[in-house]
Amino acid sequence: MLARIIVTGIIQGVGFRPFVYRMAIANKLAGFVRNRGDAAAEIFVQGSESDIDRFIEYVRARKPHLANYANFLVEKSDKEQKFNGFSILASSDEHKFSGPAVPPDVSICDQCANELKDPHDRRHRYFFNTCTECGPRFTIIEKLPFDRTNTTMKEFDPCDNCRGEYDNPADRRFHSQTIACNGCGPVLWIADNKGMYIDCKDPVSFAAKLLAEGSIIAIKGIGGFHIAASALNSKTLTRLRQSKSRKNKPFAVMAKNIESARSFALISDSEEKLLTSPAKPIVLLQKRGDFSLSPLVSPQLHNIGVMLPYAALHYLLLDELPEPALVMTSANPSSTPVIKDNEKAFQSLSNSVDYFLVHNRAISMRCDDSVVRVNSDKPSIIRRSRGYVPAPICMKNRSSDCILALGAELNNTFSIVAGNKVFMSQHIGDIDSLETYQFLKDTVKQMQNLVNAKSDVIACDLHPSMHTTRLARIKAESGKRLVQVQHHYAHAASLMAEHDLDMIAIVCDGAGYGLDGTVWGGEVIVCDKLGFNRVASLAKQPMIGGDLATYFPLRMAAGILNGKVEGLDEYLYSKSDLFTNGRKEVEFILNTKQAEMTSSTGRILDAVSAVLGICYERTYEGEPAMKLESAAIGGTDLGIKPRIDRNTLDTTFLLQHIYENKNRHSTRDLAYFAHSYIAGGLAEMACNQSKVTGIKTVGFSGGVAYNDLFLQIIKNKVESLGLRFIQHEKVPPGDAGISVGQAYIACNMAL
Ligand SMILES: [Zn+2]
Ligand SMILES: [Zn+2]
Ligand SMILES: [Zn+2]
Repeated sequence: MLARIIVTGIIQGVGFRPFVYRMAIANKLAGFVRNRGDAAAEIFVQGSESDIDRFIEYVRARKPHLANYANFLVEKSDKEQKFNGFSILASSDEHKFSGPAVPPDVSICDQCANELKDPHDRRHRYFFNTCTECGPRFTIIEKLPFDRTNTTMKEFDPCDNCRGEYDNPADRRFHSQTIACNGCGPVLWIADNKGMYIDCKDPVSFAAKLLAEGSIIAIKGIGGFHIAASALNSKTLTRLRQSKSRKNKPFAVMAKNIESARSFALISDSEEKLLTSPAKPIVLLQKRGDFSLSPLVSPQLHNIGVMLPYAALHYLLLDELPEPALVMTSANPSSTPVIKDNEKAFQSLSNSVDYFLVHNRAISMRCDDSVVRVNSDKPSIIRRSRGYVPAPICMKNRSSDCILALGAELNNTFSIVAGNKVFMSQHIGDIDSLETYQFLKDTVKQMQNLVNAKSDVIACDLHPSMHTTRLARIKAESGKRLVQVQHHYAHAASLMAEHDLDMIAIVCDGAGYGLDGTVWGGEVIVCDKLGFNRVASLAKQPMIGGDLATYFPLRMAAGILNGKVEGLDEYLYSKSDLFTNGRKEVEFILNTKQAEMTSSTGRILDAVSAVLGICYERTYEGEPAMKLESAAIGGTDLGIKPRIDRNTLDTTFLLQHIYENKNRHSTRDLAYFAHSYIAGGLAEMACNQSKVTGIKTVGFSGGVAYNDLFLQIIKNKVESLGLRFIQHEKVPPGDAGISVGQAYIACNMAL
C-alpha cells in the first residue's frame, strides 16, 4: 500500500523530517519526506497497511516538541511504487497552503548548554552551539523552505565532522540546519569602539573582564545588538545613560541563572515558568527589599525587567562574570529599530560604547527581546517578539479573505490573517522616523512571504494623518478593501479575538483618536464583532499646550485645577523652575482658556503623579503613571466613593482632593486613592451597563491594563458583582496589540 501524507503547521526547522525518517525506519517503510515551499511537509510511504497505520499514529502522537500540526491529510491507495529505502529529499518549491512558516527562535536547550561546559566535547565553549531542538529560526530565515541555503547560515560550509552528524540518523543534529562548530561555523571577535579588530585569545573571557572593570560593550546577539554593562556599577550606568540620552528609562538585566535573579528580585511560580520558558522573555519582577543592584538600573520603580541567558554566547559570558546580572539593553539609537548589522553598529554606537563583541553570522529578521509581566497570575505580554513571533494566535472564526492590519502608530506591530490564524509581527516601534517606517514596509513584505499570503483586505486606524493610515491607503489603491477601526474599539477587539466573546470593555490608555475628533483614553464601550457603543468615560479635561501636557504633567494638573482650588498660582510659581520658560510659562498656563480636550486615563494618572511630586517630566512613555503605581504599592484605601454623573467619572474632584490633602495623607495612600477612584469608577460604570445590556462579561484592555493595581481593583469589583472578568493573555493590552483587534474586526466584516 502507498500513502501520501501532507502535514502543515510549525514543522520546518523543528527536526520534523529526521523525526519522520526515524518513524519510517522503525515501521519498516520505504518512501521519502520533503519540505515544500509553502511550509508544508510531504511524506510518501510504501508498506503494509498495518505498518503504515502505526507509522501515522506515531507521527501524530510523538511529534518533536517544537512542532505544531495545523493540518494532517492522509491519502491511501493500492498503487505500488518502488523506493530505495526511506530518504529525506531536497525541498520542493510547491506553494499551496498558507499557514505558519517557521517556529520562533528557541533558547538554547539543556543538552547544548551542557556541551559548552564539557572540555571533552567538540563544541566546548562554542558560542553558537545549537541543535534541531534549539537555536535561531525566525531571525535567520530569508525564505521558505527552512533549509540552510535559505538562511544566513548559508555562508558557512559544514566541516566533515558536522556533515557526518548531519547525515547520521542516530545523531541529535541529524538534518539540523544550523549545525556548526568551532571549526566551521560563525566566529566571534572583539573590536574597539571604532570597530577595529583586537587580537585576543578568548573574546568571551576578555569581554567578561572588561565588563567587570566598568566598560560598556555592544554585543551582537540573536535578533539584534544589545548594549551590556555592569548592573552594580553606578558610574558606568551614569555614563551609559548620558551616552544613550536615556535619563530614567529602566534597563533590562540578564541574570546568570534563576538563583542569581532571586538575589535581587521576588519570583512567583508563574514568573519562574515564564523566565525559564523556551521563549526566555524579559519578565518584570518586583525588586527585593534589600535590592542590591545599582539604583540606576530602574530608578524609582518597584520592579525590574529580568531575563535569563538564551544563547550559548550569553551562557559563556555570564558564567565568567563575578556579578549576578548584567544590564542588557537593546541597541536602538532613538526612534530607530534595533541595530542588526556590524557596520551599522560600528557607525552609530562608536560614541556610546567602549568595545564591540561581534560575530559574522548575519541577522535576517531583526527581533527585540519580548517583555512580559504577570498580572493577577496571568501573563500580560507587553512586547511580543523574540521567542513568540511568528507563531500564530488562533481565532475561532476562519477568514475567507487574507487580511493585513497595519496597527497603531506607537509601539507598532502589524498582523496578517490567513484562515483562522493571526500572524502578529515582531515589535516594529514608533512609526515616527523614516528608518522605522521602512522597517515596517520591509517586514510586511518578508512576513507575507513567510506565511505565503497576499492580502485582499487592509485594516488601519481611523486617524487620517497617521503614517500607518497613509500606508494603508496606498496599499488599498490597487482595489483592495480598506477597513478603518477606531483605536479603542480595536483595543477591545484584540481582547474579543482572544476570548471570542461580546463584552463590555473598559479601555484605558494614553491617547487615541475618538469618533468625535477629541482624544479618548478612559472609555467604557459595549461591543461585538460588528460595532461598538461608547457608553461611559472619564470627564474630558484640557491638555494645556497639547502634547506638552504629556511631557510635563504639571501642565495637565494645572489645566484641571485652574479656578477649582485655592492658591494654585502660588503653588505653580513655587514650581516655576520645573517649566522651561519659568514664571512666564506659569503665567501663560494660568491664563490659557482653550485647549484640546481628553478623557485619557494616562493623562489623569500623570497629573496625579505630578501633584504628588513623584514625577514632573515624562522622559519615557508611561513614566509618571508607572512611578505612581510603584508609589501606591502597599497603600490603604481612603474610602471615598467615585463621583459619577450621567456615565461620566468626575476626575476634577479626584485631583482637587489630592491637591488639598497632600499634607494630610501619605503619598502612598493618595497614590493608591487615585488608582481605586479611577479603576473603581470605571468598573462601576461598566457593571451598570450589564443591567442595561444583559452582557455578563467585562473586559479590560489598553496600555493601563499593564498596571497590576488598576487591574486588580477592576477585577475585584466586577467579580464581586457576579460578573465575569476577562483580561489579555496572548495579545498585548497596549498599542502593540492594536493590529490584532483591527484584523479581527476586518475579518468579521468580511465574513
Ligand atoms: Zn540544542
Ligand atoms: Zn563543523
Ligand atoms: Zn491605545
